[in-house]
Amino acid sequence: MELVQTKYRWIVVIPIVLPLSLLYNFYLKIRNKFVFLMVSSPKRHAQKVAAVAAQMKKSNAKMCTSRSVYDSMSIFHAKYKETLKKIDLSNFIDILQVDTVKRTVRVEPLVTCGQLTHALLPLGWTAAVLPELDDLTVGGLIMGFGIESSSHKYGLFQHICESYEIILPGGEVVVCSKTENPDLFYAIPWSHGTIGFLLSAEIQIVPAKKYACITYEPCTTRQQMVKRFEEASRDTDYEFVECLAYGPEKGVVMTGVFSDIPTNPSSVHNLGAWYGPWFYKHVESFFTKGKATEFIPLRDYYHRHTKSIFWNLEDIIPFGNNILFRIFLGWLLPPKIAFLKMTTTEKLHELHVKTHFIEDFLVPVKKLNDTLDMLDEMVGFYPLWLCPCKIYKTPFKGLINPGKGDDLYVDVGIYGMVPKARANPQEFAKNYLDLHHTVEKWIRNIGGYQALYALTHQSKKEFEEMFDHTLYEEVRKKYNCDSIFPQLYQKVSREGRK
Ligand SMILES: Cc1cc2nc3c(=O)[nH]c(=O)nc-3n(C[C@H](O)[C@H](O)[C@H](O)COP(=O)(O)OP(=O)(O)OC[C@H]3O[C@@H](n4cnc5c(N)ncnc54)[C@H](O)[C@@H]3O)c2cc1C
Repeated sequence: MELVQTKYRWIVVIPIVLPLSLLYNFYLKIRNKFVFLMVSSPKRHAQKVAAVAAQMKKSNAKMCTSRSVYDSMSIFHAKYKETLKKIDLSNFIDILQVDTVKRTVRVEPLVTCGQLTHALLPLGWTAAVLPELDDLTVGGLIMGFGIESSSHKYGLFQHICESYEIILPGGEVVVCSKTENPDLFYAIPWSHGTIGFLLSAEIQIVPAKKYACITYEPCTTRQQMVKRFEEASRDTDYEFVECLAYGPEKGVVMTGVFSDIPTNPSSVHNLGAWYGPWFYKHVESFFTKGKATEFIPLRDYYHRHTKSIFWNLEDIIPFGNNILFRIFLGWLLPPKIAFLKMTTTEKLHELHVKTHFIEDFLVPVKKLNDTLDMLDEMVGFYPLWLCPCKIYKTPFKGLINPGKGDDLYVDVGIYGMVPKARANPQEFAKNYLDLHHTVEKWIRNIGGYQALYALTHQSKKEFEEMFDHTLYEEVRKKYNCDSIFPQLYQKVSREGRK
């Protein structure tokens, strides 16, 4: 049975999860279009806020959102949901206003990245940072973390936010921005709903064009890859920079700009076509093709890793990138993460957590080379996603800050089964904690950060060394959060996750 659940999981996924995902995505698409065109959302927003305030005023118990653990992108189960009072924000799904003069879009927290591209691109605009997977939500990207290949220019998702509307303990609604309640504004990102609930956010938008013109540069030595990647990351003339490392010594650096007209029509690549290769496989092909440039329709570019959930789908459907699968069943992809989780048994989940690394680490760019060495030795999984990002200095120091030096960081994304675990997963699972501790310690010591959609194995003291809690604690005290919201550590460590 275990073998069917792990090696042959596709037997369940192909006939059940994929059709369900397709139908559900279709329903959401129609629904969102209708809401955006027909319904006056701003008016209903006030009613929704009043309903949340009423729920909060009725109770003195500790609270969290009622969002199902299946809907969250994190692979971990939120244990804390079992004991906390759940506040229903499930109807906060609307784009409230696009203001092209102010260059902002105001959205409710459950608006997804897929929804944003569908709504904004036809208007000729895009969010300055538009994280990759369709199902990521604005609330999760602010309260957790969000990044994309434009983050070398604009910073993390939190850095493109102009203001937040927050409901605090007791039901008081406040707006915060760089100038209004700035302490709250800078304390919110990464706080995971432990200061207040997000009701809406105002996000910067920038003019968009029809295509992303992407240049692929294969690098066959580590030195060449790291050098070219850093050079490109510092060049803000590029709209997009990322790198996929396929081994300790090789990777493809990608740089891109917006473009309206392809200089050469034959270089248009309709990446979103159902029969097309998975993006990371396509990128790998440039080791044989050599350096090249192509024009990708902008929405396809933004969601380039969605179809294969980066490279996670290969574990579930090993033949998914085969041309026959793509032609006959490729149109069923991608699977909804929620449905994948629903079809994961408790036992499989436990084994998965112990044998996989699904983590993003933000490391100072100057430490990238050392980080790659460390991950190669400790984990040895490829591909790795390398995405540059600015972590800006802010007037109030939030949970994450640049160190004393450079504010350019790199997100090293590692998503897959540890190769050493493949031979004997059960045996490997016995000692998995040591590995995580060692990697986390290493990241902490170089002034890096662990993305908190993963379960942190650090002790509370170590965690507070990594994340500056000074402002966070001040703000929690100011708004009497202690009795209403759990501590951040309680949510993201073993105390709150499994
Ligand atoms: C396979 C995989 C791929 C990923 N790829 C990317 C990527 O390409 N780019 C990227 O930026 N990130 C990526 N992530 C990480 C992702 O950014 C985080 O998981 C992020 O937190 C968003 O997740 P979510 O929308 O599911 O939010 P959730 O998991 O639902 O929420 C995250 C946290 O925010 C809190 N929260 C959410 N809404 C509210 C609210 N309204 N009020 C108060 N608190 C709230 C939740 O309680 C929770 O603690 C990936 C994660 C995985 C597992």
